[in-house]
Amino acid sequence: MKVQCAHPDAVPVVSGGQTVAGLCPGCDGQLPAAWFTCDHSDTIEVTALDQRYPQYLCLQCDATFAGSEPVIP
Ligand SMILES: [Zn+2]
Ligand SMILES: [Zn+2]
Repeated sequence: MKVQCAHPDAVPVVSGGQTVAGLCPGCDGQLPAAWFTCDHSDTIEVTALDQRYPQYLCLQCDATFAGSEPVIP
């Protein structure tokens, strides 16, 4: 999955009074519900060679998001 977005404007998808997922209008991506409560402090870098921004996978909420600084070739 190619995500080049930090999901700053993600909105919760609420069903039955519970947040079940998240949607990011910036990249149209789906996020796990845990995205909203996670501080994303435990990440690994998963940047592919052709990606302009560093990509991180959060091991706590299982979401992928981009860093704000472009990769310097
Ligand atoms: Zn996004
Ligand atoms: Zn997280």
